[in-house]
Amino acid sequence: MSIVDNLDTFLKSIPDRVRIIAVSKTKSPEEILEVYRSGFNTFGENKVQELVKKYGELPKDINWHMIGHLQSNKVKYIAPFIRMIHAVDSLKLLKTIDKEAQKNSRIIDCLFQVRIAREETKYGLSCEEIKTLLASEEFPRLNSIRMTGLMGMATFTNDDDQVRSEFEYLRNCFHTIKTAFFPKIDSFRELSMGMSGDYTIAIEQGSTMIRIGSLIFGKRY
Ligand SMILES: *Cc1c(COP(=O)(O)O)cnc(C)c1O
Repeated sequence: MSIVDNLDTFLKSIPDRVRIIAVSKTKSPEEILEVYRSGFNTFGENKVQELVKKYGELPKDINWHMIGHLQSNKVKYIAPFIRMIHAVDSLKLLKTIDKEAQKNSRIIDCLFQVRIAREETKYGLSCEEIKTLLASEEFPRLNSIRMTGLMGMATFTNDDDQVRSEFEYLRNCFHTIKTAFFPKIDSFRELSMGMSGDYTIAIEQGSTMIRIGSLIFGKRY
């Protein structure tokens, strides 16, 4: 099957409420264009340099999502065009995004990355740390970012029960934070969870955005 067939089959198999980010990291501009021409325009990348290069080469109405770990000193390169930053994991990073968004007269949508996996290597904040950050004096002064929800990556394992309980934890964290800090703010509504290997469990646990790479573009080498 072609990339576009993969995507079509895929789109038909998931509920309407779930949005798909086509994760195009390591894939060529030609492959991305093939998907774009079929009418799909939301792509995710995890490296700033690759993202900026592809932004330069591809149609300007693509919605680019930064899904990987982001260093503060690189925010300036993507601030002019990025649609959403999925992996905010510190107040320092959030302040930098705010500053760069303001320079570009933009509001940038952001998600907090919650550490849900047992592996120690994964980035992210605990649910408690997010609450502390939101309750800080500095947070309300950040007027050029908009928090739209949470993101998480489950442990890479075949143990479905473990993956399920990690996504469940993320959903519960979302509800706690929504209730405490964003009860009347409709835009705080995204749960970015689920990749090619675990998206069915993520959707079952309330995901609103799944980040799918290999199931659409094929294996990465
Ligand atoms: C690569 C990546 C994905 C997509 O992975 P697949 O298994 O190819 O679907 C999703 N989220 C993040 C943060 C990634 O880095």
